[in-house]
Parts: sequence; C-alpha cells; structure tokens
Amino acid sequence: MASYDYDLFTIGAGSGGVRGSRIAASLGARVAVAEDSELGGTCVNLGCIPKKLLVYASHFAEEREDAIAGFGWSVAEPEFDWATLIANKDKEIKRLNGVYDRMLVDAGVTIVPGRARLVDAHTVEVAGRRITAENILIAVGGWPFVPDFPGRELAITSNEVFHLDALPERVLVVGGGYIAVEFAGILHGLGSRVTQIYRRELFLRGFDDSVREALATEMKRKDIDLRFSLEATSIEKTEGGLRVALSDGSDIEVDQVLYATGRVPKTDDLGLEAAGVEVGPGGAIPVDAVSRTNVPNIFAIGDCTDRVNLTPVALHEGTCVAHTLFGDGERAPDHEYVASAVFSQPPIGSVGLTEAKARDRFGDDLAVYESRFRALKHTLTGSAEQTLMKLLVDRKSDAVVGLHMLGPDAGEITQGFAVAIKAGVTKSQFDQTIGIHPTAAEEFVTMREPTR
Ligand code: NDP
Repeated sequence: MASYDYDLFTIGAGSGGVRGSRIAASLGARVAVAEDSELGGTCVNLGCIPKKLLVYASHFAEEREDAIAGFGWSVAEPEFDWATLIANKDKEIKRLNGVYDRMLVDAGVTIVPGRARLVDAHTVEVAGRRITAENILIAVGGWPFVPDFPGRELAITSNEVFHLDALPERVLVVGGGYIAVEFAGILHGLGSRVTQIYRRELFLRGFDDSVREALATEMKRKDIDLRFSLEATSIEKTEGGLRVALSDGSDIEVDQVLYATGRVPKTDDLGLEAAGVEVGPGGAIPVDAVSRTNVPNIFAIGDCTDRVNLTPVALHEGTCVAHTLFGDGERAPDHEYVASAVFSQPPIGSVGLTEAKARDRFGDDLAVYESRFRALKHTLTGSAEQTLMKLLVDRKSDAVVGLHMLGPDAGEITQGFAVAIKAGVTKSQFDQTIGIHPTAAEEFVTMREPTR
C-alpha cells in the first residue's frame, strides 16, 4: 500500500475547506490545508462578514431620520468617517483570521501557506514543495467576473470595494444579483449617490417575483436611481471622475463603477488536467452526489462546483465529504429547502419554491397567501415602506412549499421558519401556531385566506 504524507490534503482554507479539514481531523485523519491568502476565504475576508458589518453601519442614517420624524428625538447633523469604519472592519477580520488559524491548529490540521497546484491525483505542489495525500479536497471558491468591454479595468468589484480609500460620492452599480443590491443599499445608506443598472426587466432573477418587484419599489422610494433593461458599454476617465456610456445612448458620470455581475469558479491554473479532473463549462468542477469528481480520490465542494453558492452550503458539503472519507459511510449533502437572505435594504428572506416554480409544479393545487403591510414602527415615522410576506401551499398535501419575505429582519425570521419547512410543516400547523404579538413574523401564522 502506498504511504502518503497525509490522508487528506485540502486546497483552499475558505468556509468549506476549513470545515472539511477540521471534521476530517476530528475523525482521526492526518490533514493539511493550503491557502495562498488570508484564512477564511471569501466569506470572512471579502464577502458575507465584512458586507454584513457595512450593512449595519449603513442603517444609521435612516434610523436617525425615523427617530427624528416619529420618536421625538432631535439629533445634530451627523458625520460619517469611512476610514474609521474600514479600519474597524479590518480589525475584526484580522481577529477572525486568527480564530480560523487557531481552529485549524487546535484540530490538528497542518496549514501550508501558498498556492497549491495538482501534480497528479495524489500529489500537490505548494511553494516548490511536493506533498502527497491519499485524498484531495478542492475548495478553491470563486472570483468576481467582469465582462469584457472598453474600460473594464476602471471598474471595481466586491474584492476592491471593501478597501476603498474613500466613500465615493457618486457610484454606478452594475448587476442585479445579491452583491449588486446589497452594495447599492450599503453605499446609499452611507451617503453615496447610487445608480444601479441591470440588463433585464427586473433584478434578482430566480427570486420570487413579488419580492423582486417590492424591493425595486422600496429602493426607488429611498432615492436609489434604479434602472432596468440597461447595460454599460464603456467606461472612460474624465477630469471629474468616470464617464460610463450606457446602452440607451445616454451616459453618466460617477466616481466609482462597481461591477457585481456574478462570480466564476477559481479553477484555472490548479493543475486539474494533470490530475485528470474534468472541468465543466465556466470552470466549475462536476461532482457526484457525495462531491466526488471523476477522479475517485479527489473531491470538490463549495463555489468551485457551482451548485448552491452559499457559505452554509459549502460548510455542509465539507462536513459530508469528511464523513464520507473518514466516517461511517457515504454522506450526500442535501440541497433541498436551503434558505437564504439578501441583505438588501429592506432585506429579503426566502426558502423553498418561488410562486412561478410552485405554479409549474402544483398547477391549480397551489394556494398563495400574500400579505403587504406597513410595519408598526412606521405608523409613527411616517415611512411608507411596505413589508411583504408570502406563503405557498400545496393544497393536496397541505405542505408549505415556499416562504418569502421582504422587510426588516427578514433573514432572522426566515431562518426560524426554514426549520419548520425543512421538517415538512403543513399550513394547518402554521394555523395552529400562536403568534408573538406585536411582531411582523406573526403575520406568517395568521394568514387565513389565500390571495389567489
Ligand atoms: P449573481 O449570480 O447573484 O448575480 C449576477 C448578476 O449579474 C445577475 O443579475 C446577472 O444578470 C448579472 N450579469 C451577469 N453577467 C452580466 C453581464 N455580462 N452584463 C451585465 N450583467 C450581468 O452574482 P453576484 O455577483 O451578485 O453574487 C455572487 C454569488 O455570491 C452568488 O452566487 C451568491 O450566491 C453569493 N452571494 C450570496 C450572498 C447572500 O447569501 N446574502 C451575498 C452575496 C453573494 P442575469 O440575471 O441577467 O443573469
């Protein structure tokens, strides 16, 4: 039997790679992980965590307005310092990098700094050193994608926006996915003048249509200049900033252009060919139900497999691979009823099918319960912001097959309901549940009559 340096070598110490490595080590495997950047990957360094911190920071202006308008406060004109926010955020990220380091070391995982390349199915090369392993886990994540057009080098992506020297006065956000709507809200809340453009009629393709429309209404209400069916065709430097030509023949001058037009698997120059690992269209690594590639001892998880590109899903996939390899048998990750939130302003929470998908699946058996209302808080602030809640029910089985929300705390609220939906909750069980009053969430358990 061949003897290898390690039982498992993981490439990439992001969410999925760290989790897979730690669990594997806890199951008795000898594990090493290579990382060429900070520990924690996109989520910790350039994604979920710093993004959410900026979301918190950006809420203040509106809270202040509400407090003055409705709650009797008088507050002097506030000042915002971007450099302080970024420095505080960086300090927290540094702390988290340390936490990841300790977690790996305490679990007995060897950290190998540097970029790893596969040499063959059992060998990787990192910083000129060859290391062998019985199994390899690829968890290299993704990277922002910017389409090709004149001036693309003048645009920034989510990689750069977290480290700008100053808050841009005028920003153009291009794209209509998670990152685009989240940053449109963050930058607007912090004081930038924000224009967001999206190439089709309505952004957040894949989310429930009611939620997409309602978010567009609320963002426009906040004075975000949201424009659909529009693309940027070129960017050039001017004396005053950046001039962006748009597909309708107009142009716009801004200080920064943020491209949030998707992410692609970071699988180039990884030596996949040398190891015989197949790569799919767009660079994603195809895997089977247990995240195994076409090479039996090589597994891949997270964004580089382009399945459900969310941190908690990568964590789950990493856990499953560790159990498949070193636990008590094959464990396939479960991608059904994965809840998610978009930290737009207001935020979105979503789990299960959209109305359109549920209609396709259940036809006339679909019952839609939808409610729109002004949150209690806004009866005093005067804000016209609407909260939207929607339940989708298969009448035949009475199962709740989709739950969607736009409104304050949507992520927090949806997480709780996601447990019930994952467990197969019925509409009658929703009806039997007594609400917590006064909350917005109670609306989900008091929806009596279908809207359609
Ligand atoms: P998404 O894939 O969510 O959205 C990409 C957007 O860019 C879409 O609106 C797409 O339009 C548009 N687009 C793609 N190509 C072009 C092009 N050539 N020109 C103009 N527009 C284009 O990507 P994001 O970058 O927003 O996010 C990346 C990933 O990160 C997502 O997969 C998401 O899962 C994850 N993420 C999750 C978050 C969360 O859970 N809260 C937060 C942030 C990111 P179209 O609809 O027409 O294809």
